[in-house]
Formats: sequence, C-alpha cells, structure tokens
Amino acid sequence: MTVQVAIFGGGPAGIAAAAWLSQRGVRVLCIDSGVRRGARREVWTAAVGDRLQALALEGPLSEHAYACRVTLSSWGTDTQDERYGLFNAHGDEWIVTRPEISSVLRRALTDSPAEFREGARLRHIRCVGRRWRIDWDEPVGRRSCIADAWIDATGVQSAGARRVGARRLHFDRQLGLSGRVMRTKEGERMLGALMLETGSTGWWYMIGGDAPMLDAVWMTDMDLLVEGPQRTFHTAFSSSNRLGHWAQISAPNVSSIAASLSCLDYTAGDGWCAVGDAALQRDPLCGAGAYHAVNDGISGAETVLQALRGDASAWARHQTRYRERLEDHLRERWIVYGSECRWPMERYWFRRSRVRKSGLVDPERRWNATSMLAHDWERSGLPLESMRAIRKVLSSAPMSSLEMARCIRETVGQALSDAWIVASIGRLEVSGCISSA
Ligand SMILES: Cc1cc2nc3c(=O)[nH]c(=O)nc-3n(C[C@H](O)[C@H](O)[C@H](O)COP(=O)(O)OP(=O)(O)OC[C@H]3O[C@@H](n4cnc5c(N)ncnc54)[C@H](O)[C@@H]3O)c2cc1C
Repeated sequence: MTVQVAIFGGGPAGIAAAAWLSQRGVRVLCIDSGVRRGARREVWTAAVGDRLQALALEGPLSEHAYACRVTLSSWGTDTQDERYGLFNAHGDEWIVTRPEISSVLRRALTDSPAEFREGARLRHIRCVGRRWRIDWDEPVGRRSCIADAWIDATGVQSAGARRVGARRLHFDRQLGLSGRVMRTKEGERMLGALMLETGSTGWWYMIGGDAPMLDAVWMTDMDLLVEGPQRTFHTAFSSSNRLGHWAQISAPNVSSIAASLSCLDYTAGDGWCAVGDAALQRDPLCGAGAYHAVNDGISGAETVLQALRGDASAWARHQTRYRERLEDHLRERWIVYGSECRWPMERYWFRRSRVRKSGLVDPERRWNATSMLAHDWERSGLPLESMRAIRKVLSSAPMSSLEMARCIRETVGQALSDAWIVASIGRLEVSGCISSA
C-alpha cells in the first residue's frame, strides 16, 4: 500500500490531522492501537467548536455533551469563587465522555477517502530514500505501507518520534488519581459544574454529571504517594474542605493517569512531525488539552501539506511553533500555580514556584548568598545566633533551594513565615546568587 501521509494515533489530534488532509485530497492512512482512556468525564472548552467547524463537524458537541454551567473554584483562597460560562469569551464549556466524543470525531473520516485502522499498533519506521516504510501490527498480522510523510499523534507514547530518536522531556512527575464518588443530596447542585480545590500536596477537580456517581481526580506528584494511590486518594478526599459536601467515597477503584507536563526535545524532522500530546502534553490545569490537540492536529496537517508542496522549511517552522507553545504554557503555568501561596514550602507547590530548580553550587556564590540573606534578615529582627547558624550551614554544602528552605525553617523555627523564606530565596535567584540547575 502507498499513501501520501501516514498518521499514528486516532485521538483528537490524529483524527483532526487525518480529516483536514483528506478533505484536501491527500491520501491518508490513520492507524490507532485502540487503547481507550476510559469513560471518565472531561471538560472541553467551547473554543474547540471553531476547530471542529474547520473539519466540517458543526454542532456535534451539543448532541453528545451538556453545558458546564459553572466552575466552583477554591484556588489560593478558602472561599469558593464562581465563574460562569456566560463570561467565557467562547461561550459555555462542555462536559463530555471520551468514547462518545471519539465517535463524533471519527465521523469526520467516515465520508472521506481516508483509511482508518483501529486495533493497529505501530511497530517500525524506516527511511527508504526520500520516503518511509511503516510496519504495524493488527490482530490478523503484520501490515506495512510506504508513505511520503508521517504524523505522530500517539499521545504521550510519542511512538513514532521516539523511533527516530526524539526524547521525551518531563518538567514534573505529576499524575492524576481518578476515582468515582457518590453524589450527596447537596451534590445534586453539582450538575453541570466543575469543581477545583487545592490542598497542601496537590489539587482536586470533580465534574458533576447527571448520574449519581461523579468523577473526582486528585492531581499530585508521584513521589508524594507515600501511602499508595488508594489511601492517598482517601486521605486527600477527607481533608478537603468542600468535597465532602458534594460527594462521599464509596470504595472507589482508583486509577492513576500520567499527567506530567512533558514534551519532545524535537517535534519535527525531514518528512515527519509530532502533534497534540505526542509533541507537548500540557498540565491538565490548562483545561484545554483536547482543544490544543485538535488545533495542533490541524496545524500539523498544514505543515505536512506545505512540505509535500515543496516547502522544505515547513518542518523547522513546526518545531519553532512548538517551542513558542511550550514557553506560553510555562508562563501560564507559573502564574496559575503561583496564585496558590498557602503552602509555599510543601514540595508540590514549591516545585511549581519560580525558585523550584535553582540551587547553590559554587562556594563563592554560596558566600555571597548568605551575606545577602544576613543583610536581609537583619531587618526582620532575626536573632544573631540563628543568622550565624544558617550562614554556616548554607555556606558549607551545596544544596537545592528546597533543601535551603528546609534548613532555614529548621534553624529559625517559626520566627519567619514560609512565604517570607520562599520570597528570600526568590530574591537570591533574581540577584544571580543562586544559579538555575
Ligand atoms: C488527568 C487528565 C485529565 C484531563 N482532562 C482534560 C479535560 O477535562 N479537558 C481537556 O480538554 N483535556 C483534558 N486532558 C488532556 C487531553 O486528554 C489530552 O490533551 C488529549 O487527549 C490529547 O489528544 P491526543 O490526540 O494528542 O492524544 P490521545 O488522546 O492520548 O490519543 C492518542 C491515541 O494514540 C493511540 N496510540 C498510542 N500508541 C500507539 C501506537 N503505538 N500505535 C498506534 N496508535 C497508538 C492511542 O490509542 C490513542 O487513541 C486531560 C489529561 C489528563 C492527563
């Protein structure tokens, strides 16, 4: 079999790319391993509607979804803010389940000449002259094709890009513990609502559906699961301020979902590009992963079309676009996580603060840093002996800024607030005393 473009992955990004290309007369093959993400509810931003229209899929969301009418958010505060879809520039957000929405998206391929193969797992990619030989496995055996170009849309697997040497870079080790909980009487008000709430070691989101069972997900870091997933979920649930009003735990099966911010070190090469989560998995906090997947699928398809028409620089532009998207996302992420200041010394929040990766490495810098702190702390009225003790520890051993914060806390007891300590370390970083690791 010979095609112009082979697409690996039939999630939102892969389907969008396949539909967009085949609507422009490109011969496309799309293979999908059929690994399901489960029927967990998701919130899709209404902005995705424009992108679906670009694929001639008008109105499908309203057939298979219901409006998310309000977001109840306790982020950075003990009170709960309400944000209504009415004030969202794109209109209401939508509550969807992935299997339903996948079948809607795949409709874009049914009337097109694109070939879609489900239950097909990519095996090998080999460059043959200026084209690619692609092998994949289906239940009936191995299949292969020759393609002019390919698109990797296999989500975090990045199964295609990895086979040609790209590496995945992780910015954190976040995961989501997902469980189904039973709605209380009060929780009936949750219908069509998304709830966000922070805790000292992560944050919750819970989506209110029409069924008595609700989807609750606790986002935290892998190394903070000291008690294992099930107990961590229970402990976080019972220490939440508000979740208990809306729902109760009824021995949920807790599943873990990889949710780290990660990207490929390069997202395109001659004859291929990666799109959607395969190229850049954003923090789920952005609440628009599926929108970005559809949007990126279309822009990846444009890249391939330009290249097929002879514009060899299209691949490099794709790479640059992703670098910009990553930078935008990192900026947005600092701002949102930075707006939660109640637990600045807890690992989860500290790692997401600006001073996260900095450290004191060379002796001269360590000395400058401690002099600067001493000057700073003179004004805070810290006893001289505490200051001396801190300077001694800080100047004797290289340490990360988290270790530094801990050491200061141990030495000064409660004489300085957490926020104050983190701010001091932040000032050291800005002044260049602490180098970024
Ligand atoms: C905990 C969590 C909650 C989220 N909640 C939301 C939300 O509420 N709203 C939102 O908009 N986004 C949400 N997201 C993000 C969103 O799910 C993703 O951004 C989006 O699914 C990415 O789409 P994709 O097509 O790039 O990848 P995926 O949806 O992961 O699709 C990849 C496809 O590739 C296939 N595949 C994998 N390996 C192979 C292989 N070797 N060969 C062939 N096929 C293969 C898989 O079967 C799959 O169908 C959430 C993410 C997480 C982790």
